[in-house]
Order: sequence, then structure tokens, then C-alpha cells
Amino acid sequence: MCDLQALDVVECIDATPVLKQSKTMPRLGRLYRVQSVRKIGDGYSVRLFDVTPECHLGGPCNCGNCGWDSRRFRRVQGPEKDRLTVLRALLSSSKTAPDLVPEFEH
Ligand SMILES: [Zn+2]
Repeated sequence: MCDLQALDVVECIDATPVLKQSKTMPRLGRLYRVQSVRKIGDGYSVRLFDVTPECHLGGPCNCGNCGWDSRRFRRVQGPEKDRLTVLRALLSSSKTAPDLVPEFEH
């Protein structure tokens, strides 16, 4: 059973690669937006807007069949209002780059 669906905001709760070739992983504790959910065998494969998974054919996925196990993600619960807040936080956090702010005080 998978309670995730496209456009859900999810938090990564498991970022440990299962396969050696899985070099591209979501970051633990970060928020992502679900692009699609596909049923594969007994589980579900999740694609994200923000990160492209490593492909079983090699390199970043272009085939569209690769993704991460849905159990790696937890839906960020809450009413619509909170959801908007989460989305805004998501947008602003991806734009903020504190490392690039120059320092003028010495
Ligand atoms: Zn692929």
C-alpha cells in the first residue's frame, strides 16, 4: 500500500543506497515533490521533480522506468495551508545559497 501520489510533498527518511550503482540519492531530511508513483512488483517506485535517479542503463535516467522505493519517503502531512507553507519553504530553500553571500565585514 502506497499513500504517495504525484505532486505530494515528501520528506526523505532513508537515503541509504541499496544498489552499488545508485549514486544519485535524495538527501535525508530534505523535502521533495513527487513527479510520479509506479507500482513495481510488491513495492512502489517514486520519481521526484527535484532529483533525477541513476539509470539501470547507466547515467542519469532517461528511460523513465527508474526511481526510488516509496518507503524512502514520508508524506508531509497537514491541511492545504500548511502545504503551501511547506511548498514556499521548499522553493526558498532551493534558492538560498548562504555559501555564496559575500562577506563585507573584516
Ligand atoms: Zn532509467
